[in-house]
Amino acid sequence: MDLSFILNNLGEDIGNGSSPVTPPIYQTSNFYFKTVEDFRQAILSERDHLIYTRGNNPTIDLLRIKMAALEGAEDALVFASGMAAISSAILAMVKTGDHVISVQHPYSWTDTLMNSNIFPKFGIEATMVDGTDARNIEQAIKPNTSLIYLESPNSWTFDVQNLGEIGVLAKKHGIITIIDNSYSTPLYQQPLKNGIDLVVHTASKYLGGHSDVVAGICCGSRELIDKIFHNEFCTLGGIISPFNAWLLLRGLRTLQVRMEHISRTAGEVIAFLQDCGIVEKIFYPFLEGNPGMQTAKNQMTKASGLFSIVLKTRSTAAIEEFCNSLTYWRMAVSWGGFESLIIPSCTFVRPGLYSNLPDNMIRFSVGLETADALIGDLEKNLHLLR
Ligand SMILES: *Cc1c(COP(=O)(O)O)cnc(C)c1O
Repeated sequence: MDLSFILNNLGEDIGNGSSPVTPPIYQTSNFYFKTVEDFRQAILSERDHLIYTRGNNPTIDLLRIKMAALEGAEDALVFASGMAAISSAILAMVKTGDHVISVQHPYSWTDTLMNSNIFPKFGIEATMVDGTDARNIEQAIKPNTSLIYLESPNSWTFDVQNLGEIGVLAKKHGIITIIDNSYSTPLYQQPLKNGIDLVVHTASKYLGGHSDVVAGICCGSRELIDKIFHNEFCTLGGIISPFNAWLLLRGLRTLQVRMEHISRTAGEVIAFLQDCGIVEKIFYPFLEGNPGMQTAKNQMTKASGLFSIVLKTRSTAAIEEFCNSLTYWRMAVSWGGFESLIIPSCTFVRPGLYSNLPDNMIRFSVGLETADALIGDLEKNLHLLR
């Protein structure tokens, strides 16, 4: 299916006879029935009927249909946040006594779920491995391993896992695989094609794209999505509001043009940083010489706009002054919006949080400003790092 058709047309015929150009927001909690028999039939299969917005809602369903089509999945669910999608998908696939293998240093709250506050409480064990070599994953498999959790490229260091190899490996052992595909969006990587079972996203980043919604998505086979729907989705209830789903539908219309701009601009900013003399190392999946580059290029069509650098200077004071002086690059958490952002790693003071990162690192998220403006802002302030 043509990508621009999915983003702009697919499934939009929800106007109930009228033909609004943009889909209506079904701002309702419940749906009424005209006969007891209709009501009874709906209750018999909540999955396929409009009963209550914690289950289905036409505006949210439209987003489900588009996200499933974008990932090449049979079905999808939309959640109140990326973490609601991630935690629901993970918890649906594990039980007490199970073992989970995860790529090391996934998104911080995913790490927390596995290693601090949820898994230990329910007697689920997690082994964090360097996923850049699939053999590390294979070696960690135990008889009770029920899930392999991936994030490729992962947060901050953008390590890449070979999805095809891991997909085959997991199938051989009967283990479910989940990947956080937020970095690439379904435009630049479609992991189900590589044999991964479930794809999760934070929609708060590129999918929404305007820094005005927190939301999450999970895509996969009808069977797995049904399982999540009847359990964690409806029980934990981390659903999105119809209005936020509508904002995401609007964000998706420009996803292609935003991603093209962002990907190209990131390439230009990185080329500048490579030659400016203050950078020791760049973490970016498509960087020439990056050990994961070939794998990245085999399974991703492009890299997006998120990357990190390690500076030559070790002076936290200099890094602080540099970051404080920038105009276009604002300091904030999150990424993937219209606004370009940085986070210096020296911001993190909570013990254990990102303890794998050196203090002289900065993560960049390229937004919709021009490359000239973004590079000019860096150039003007680079002397602070010399
Ligand atoms: C932000 C983020 C999440 C969490 O998403 P929320 O929508 O903030 O809950 C998950 N994974 C990655 C890679 C992220 O950057």
